Amino acid sequence: MNILLLGSGGREHALAWKLAQSPSLEKFYASPGNPGIAQHAECVKLDVLDHAEVIQFCGRNRIDLVVVGPEAPLVDGLAGSLRDADILVFGPDAAPAQLEGSKGFTKDLCARANIPTAGYVRATNQNDALAALDKFSIPVVIKADGLAAGKGVIIAETREQAQDSIAMMFEGGFGDAGAEVVIEEFLTGEEASFFAITDGKNVISFGTAQDHKRVGEGDIGPNTGGMGAYSPAPVLTNVLQKQVMEKIIRPTVDTLAAEGMPYSGVLFAGLMLTETGPQLIEYNARFGDPECQVLMMRLKSDLAAIMRATAKGELGQMSAPEFDSQSALTVVMAANGYPSTPEKGGKIQNLARAEREGTKIFHAGTAEVDGKLVANGGRVLNVTALGNNTTEAQTKAYAAVDQINFESGFCRRDIGWREVARENS
Ligand code: AMP
Repeated sequence: MNILLLGSGGREHALAWKLAQSPSLEKFYASPGNPGIAQHAECVKLDVLDHAEVIQFCGRNRIDLVVVGPEAPLVDGLAGSLRDADILVFGPDAAPAQLEGSKGFTKDLCARANIPTAGYVRATNQNDALAALDKFSIPVVIKADGLAAGKGVIIAETREQAQDSIAMMFEGGFGDAGAEVVIEEFLTGEEASFFAITDGKNVISFGTAQDHKRVGEGDIGPNTGGMGAYSPAPVLTNVLQKQVMEKIIRPTVDTLAAEGMPYSGVLFAGLMLTETGPQLIEYNARFGDPECQVLMMRLKSDLAAIMRATAKGELGQMSAPEFDSQSALTVVMAANGYPSTPEKGGKIQNLARAEREGTKIFHAGTAEVDGKLVANGGRVLNVTALGNNTTEAQTKAYAAVDQINFESGFCRRDIGWREVARENS
């Protein structure tokens, strides 16, 4: 099988590493890739906004499967264009990808399918939004409807802050993403992530994880793309996972199919585990970054075979995916200044010394300059380790972090703290 993987982050390096282990893989391309991905695939430069260019590349290079890593090309409809050209693709069409591309779309779907989620109102202008705000108690959650690189959510602690947030969004604070606003009831509980893979009809569970979005230890400071994660997330017990599948995932997949927009790809549910059970906070139409890194570290099954079966609508013929019973934990090493102004060009050394059995370093924002590895983005490396439990995985991941020489970088030292505290109590 010839595969083209789209993307350039730590998520895509983890996918590339796993896909490269598939016995059916022949030629492997990635666009644009990064120095880590280049260890497994030939990196090429394609403009993912130019669907015809991607289709032509697939034709010329006899690509059997395209794997789309990030959300933007999915929401932009690349998967649909590839399907129309009879190219197998792992990832949903634009219509079902609205699960990630429009928060209002997801909330309305939840309402139609009776999926547990926070009460909400959609508003397309400031007056309607301010009028609707009166119906909510404080704190209240104000969300830009569209893709805002994970920044479009504000938890307002006062009514004034909520009003200001609404005004900011309608004044273009998040660009087009804020042309519509969703106001949501504030939920309390512990957050966890649940992954499922579906071909539109068949659905398989694909693991659990918990991530850390804030830049600072103890989960404080500005939001980031994610500073670390671990899998499994035992807080999502088997009983809770069954509930998530029955009350959230299955109704989503069935409703989308019944409404003529079947979902194909990975469905990543961000959940709040409330006193009354799991509620959906958000859907993503792709793997999480860095959650993907810990899932791939544990996955034992052939990823390429699972993705091809998904793309062909033949997931029902696959046996359940196998995951290592060990825990995996990943620590993000970021460039100083991240998330606002990450410093570029910082030297990175000693990766080979840090990587040993049960430890894997995925590249995110790295670049090779004159044969030397340097930082080239906010999140730079994902130092990932397996252990018998979260505590052991954490110890091994930080032992590897401490071997790496990246002077202009930093990481949180408490990734996995909730589970580590539970394991050691
Ligand atoms: P989202 O982009 O929708 O996942 O939101 C980002 C973060 O905002 C989530 O991970 C939660 O921490 C928080 N959040 C979103 N919606 C709610 C809600 N209804 N209640 C409480 N927190 C929320």
